[in-house]
Amino acid sequence: MIVAPKAAAYSPKGECNWVCFHDDLGNIHTYEPTNCDDYCEDCIGTIVEKLFADESAERPDGFVEFCFDTESSKENEGFCLCDNCGEHIFVSIIWTEQELEHWLSLDADGWAKSLADNSCCYELMQILDDCYGSSEWFPDETSKIADAVLLYSSRRTEKELRLLYARREQLQKECAELELRRDELKESLSEVLQETE
Ligand SMILES: [Zn+2]
Repeated sequence: MIVAPKAAAYSPKGECNWVCFHDDLGNIHTYEPTNCDDYCEDCIGTIVEKLFADESAERPDGFVEFCFDTESSKENEGFCLCDNCGEHIFVSIIWTEQELEHWLSLDADGWAKSLADNSCCYELMQILDDCYGSSEWFPDETSKIADAVLLYSSRRTEKELRLLYARREQLQKECAELELRRDELKESLSEVLQETE
């Protein structure tokens, strides 16, 4: 798959964390003001510390202290991004049409940027790899995305073409030089062979 090398170069975060608080009865509750926010393992500590230091942050009834809860193989509608650093958090994806529509609305520039970006290729790989289920739930959309990946990844920019032509010229020159050298060597060898026979 075309997007595989870039996708493999991207490592998603492993955990989905959210902010909670302990109450005075020893129970843990989700902290409502950040109820919808997901944070990766590298960010949750900072977020909790920030809230702790922020005296204007809401303290619900019975509040004792901030903490967090973790889910390591979360099921999520669409991709899950850390609300602090924006990196992907690995989730088991429940596919939605909206998730795929984004890709169907991209223009050539959008595709060029996405195909050059490891994290976008990571998304595309999950969409296009049968084992993640996108093609089962949305076969039409998925196959349109696959076609677009093929179409746009084969398009080369003018700069890429110029570089390719320069490389071709350089290689042709090197080949010609080596051929010349080979002929010289062959000639020397045959001379030596004649002398020693
Ligand atoms: Zn993060």
